[in-house]
Amino acid sequence: MGERDITVGEVTAAPGQVARGRIRVAVGTTATVEMPVVVINGSRPGPTVCVTAGVHGAEYPGIEAAIRLSRSLAPPAVRGSVIIVPIVSVPAFERRAIYVNPMDGVNINRVFPGNPAGRITEVMAATLFREAVAQSDAFIDLHGGDLVEALVPFTIHYQSGNAAVDDASRKMAEVYGIRYIVRSVANKGGAYQAAAAMGKPAILAESGGQGILDEPSVQVHVRGVSNVLKHLGVLEGSPDPVERPVHFSQSAWLAAEHGGIFYPAVSIGQRVDKGQVVGEFRDWFGDPLAKVESPASGVVLFLVTSPAINRGDPILSVGVVEAR
Ligand SMILES: [Zn+2]
Repeated sequence: MGERDITVGEVTAAPGQVARGRIRVAVGTTATVEMPVVVINGSRPGPTVCVTAGVHGAEYPGIEAAIRLSRSLAPPAVRGSVIIVPIVSVPAFERRAIYVNPMDGVNINRVFPGNPAGRITEVMAATLFREAVAQSDAFIDLHGGDLVEALVPFTIHYQSGNAAVDDASRKMAEVYGIRYIVRSVANKGGAYQAAAAMGKPAILAESGGQGILDEPSVQVHVRGVSNVLKHLGVLEGSPDPVERPVHFSQSAWLAAEHGGIFYPAVSIGQRVDKGQVVGEFRDWFGDPLAKVESPASGVVLFLVTSPAINRGDPILSVGVVEAR
């Protein structure tokens, strides 16, 4: 709030202070998993906003943007407070693991808000929510394509059924500054979905991918978070949103029906028609296994870029433009 001490994990920041430290998650009786956290407690009252990155440990532009924001936001410029967790899944970051926590093979972004008595990753999710998200008024989760994925930047907001929360989430997505905005309707355990279900306006923002730390993708997130903080009154000034955002009523995901070698026939950002061939699976000898058809008409938002595919792996998603 900027009027009281804020404690997250082992970190306490008094009004007007920045504090850094860790959130510790007990794993069994002997080990702990740690998450870095920075609390910027403003000099004046206002909302508390939580920003996370590294929920998937190899999505580097979001991680870098969170680190930079944690170092640049100064309490005199902040109304309220900002809680930043720059790397949620430290074990995945350290191992350069895609999709899942290598400790238990669980994708943390499918198990929010977590379970304090569950598997390691579920305990991590529950701890993050208890310590950081529960005491926030709004939530921004920074992602990108994973090590084996390319994508066009987009934001996602969840339709929770609470109109006030959903309107606020959609507005946060609109001011972020990315042209493509996706509505999600099925709760798949994403952090932004769990936060919205708790009544916290929330978005997930995607920028960058393929394990590359590139400056334009970092800037998308730095500008986006700053825009949302201005929109919420945490920072002075007005957000700088895009002129004509494109809203997608859903994104249609395609999972691999075969393991083997994948040859895409489309690029990210390309418009495709339902049923259009978007790639082909071949076996280890180059013999064709199956052609892959687009599940919907729309825009290719993300595309797997590794030829090595296991059955069930995500292949691509197609954003379906919202009817007006
Ligand atoms: Zn991700």
